[in-house]
Amino acid sequence: MKKVLVVEDERDLAELLAYNLEKEGYQALVAGTGVEGLETARREMPELILLDLMLPGMMGTEVCSALRHSEKTKAIPVLMLTARGDEIDRVVGFEMGADDYIVKPFSMRELILRIRAILRRSSQELTNNERQINIGQVSIDCGSHKVSVSGVEIDLTSTEYKLLLYLAEHSGRVMKRELLLQDVWGYNFVGDTRTVDTHVTRLRNKLGDAGDMVKTVRGFGYKMEE
Ligand code: CA
Repeated sequence: MKKVLVVEDERDLAELLAYNLEKEGYQALVAGTGVEGLETARREMPELILLDLMLPGMMGTEVCSALRHSEKTKAIPVLMLTARGDEIDRVVGFEMGADDYIVKPFSMRELILRIRAILRRSSQELTNNERQINIGQVSIDCGSHKVSVSGVEIDLTSTEYKLLLYLAEHSGRVMKRELLLQDVWGYNFVGDTRTVDTHVTRLRNKLGDAGDMVKTVRGFGYKMEE
């Protein structure tokens, strides 16, 4: 059974989330504070974390950052729960390494769809084969998920890795934002394309000199080429 950790200080919402997760066949773990959430994540190694942004003491963004800075927990997907109007914090959340966000109030159906999409993506990654893709200075090892630029390994989140792999596999072709959302994020619907832009920006930064290979095609999307 896949474990999903809910880090949420509103007890009613946390219980509602846990109830719906268990109804969907997941094992739900609940933590009421960021510190507790971090401890539970390290101990239980959940497949996914639903992380509230506004938490007492340690904020959701700080929890996310701490998860990403630990070798053990850095690959656990994080779905951030934000309130309407948290625009700036949401961007900060992406910078801290959240994979996706959902704005409160959300429907349980939408949340479950997002969760399924994220878990499908991460399990596809696990079953990916042992290929190695080289494009310019960038080398992607599909078995170990290690990415290096000019021989130096770089740290990517699961979403950044999937995005890079997808662009590299389709190098030279323009990929529309909607297509990236569908294939990289796995949505069955047209989501928020700003999600794509934020992740591309982060990916470019992490690629350093090789970041220029990810080109913006104004009005369409992105393409990767030497
Ligand atoms: Ca809260």
